Amino acid sequence: MTGAELAVCLASTGLAGGLTGWMARGKRLRRVLPGSVRARREEVGTSSVSLEEVLDLLPDAAVLLDGHGAMRFANVEAGGAFGDALGTIMRYPAVFAAMRHLDGATVSTSAEFVLEVPVRRVVRVDLRLLPEVLATGPAHILAILTDCSERDAVERMRSDFVAYASHELRTPLTALIGFIETLRGPAADDPAAQQQFLGIMAAQASRMQRLIEQLLELSRAEMLEHRKPRGIVDAKHVVDLVRDELGSLCAARDIELETIADSVSVPGDVEQIIRVLVNLVENAVKYAGADGRHVRVSVTVEKKILRGRTGVSFVVRDNGVGIAPEHLPRLTERFYRVEGRRGMSASGYGLGLAIVRHILDRHDGCFEITSRIGQGTRCDVWLPSLREPRLSGS
Ligand code: ADP
Repeated sequence: MTGAELAVCLASTGLAGGLTGWMARGKRLRRVLPGSVRARREEVGTSSVSLEEVLDLLPDAAVLLDGHGAMRFANVEAGGAFGDALGTIMRYPAVFAAMRHLDGATVSTSAEFVLEVPVRRVVRVDLRLLPEVLATGPAHILAILTDCSERDAVERMRSDFVAYASHELRTPLTALIGFIETLRGPAADDPAAQQQFLGIMAAQASRMQRLIEQLLELSRAEMLEHRKPRGIVDAKHVVDLVRDELGSLCAARDIELETIADSVSVPGDVEQIIRVLVNLVENAVKYAGADGRHVRVSVTVEKKILRGRTGVSFVVRDNGVGIAPEHLPRLTERFYRVEGRRGMSASGYGLGLAIVRHILDRHDGCFEITSRIGQGTRCDVWLPSLREPRLSGS
């Protein structure tokens, strides 16, 4: 069979995934073969090419099976993408069950299933009965494997996100509805109770407002993430603005806010970098602790070489309650909060550091938190300089 004939046969099978592309180009199979394969064919003076050779050229993971489901061939992509797991996947009960449908009348079917070990992996297997002309030897079923784990993770994250956000909004909303009913009924003639309830209602309403603002900020940060920032951030300028914004909050809580910054510049979105520093200083204020000690928060700026790249580091330090080491790796996940702190667990939604991370990803920057329980926390925000040559360094 010639290459062109084989391509036409493949086209007639209606194979899944990347094979579709081959179908469209069927007649030109010879031209799209890489040089080495073409050279080999010209050398032997024949234009025949095996099904296995074609499958090895595909960008999809492809496996040939016999009628009992035993693997007869796996292409290069299948080995690379699934490695040792390939055997387990092809022996999976869902694959056998799907294979039983291939009786000649039904020539294509598929199965999707979840492998839980060693890591959760969602795999889709599309099965096609090969037409006789291609089913040489015992192999007569083609399986195209697709790893759907990423799509699955995104879907799960999205549904978790909606569940969390609606739960966080429903709780204060239920409280508000309860207080309104009480104010209309039992507390209608009780001015003292009315004042107390109105105070609680105002607090709940601002909590809801804060959540909505943070959700919008997070979605803005995500939307911008793939657009490179165009502005120039002057470190002294942004640190001064942060000081102006939060100076009175710190003074009201009797917290000393110290800022030290020279006028060094890096590329970046000024508004977003201010947002990052405001979030970090607000956290330092929020988690200052209530044991009556003098709390200091500082924002400093230094030039720093990180992994061979020059840049500028903004450091926000506090001597507050600190964070236990087991929480550190998860702090930038959405809605992640350190629970079990009396009087503090209700103060935020666990979105602030997720926003920080998205903004720094957009800036190609780095974010690091180091902390010790009872001693305080240090947040390092590093932004790279503009197109400077790589230097050796930390
Ligand atoms: P939140 O809105 O809950 O503050 P963040 O994402 O900003 O959300 O922070 C996540 C968690 O990290 C907080 O709930 C808090 O427990 C902890 N945290 C962040 N910054 C500090 C800090 N400076 N000191 C102590 N704990 C902190």
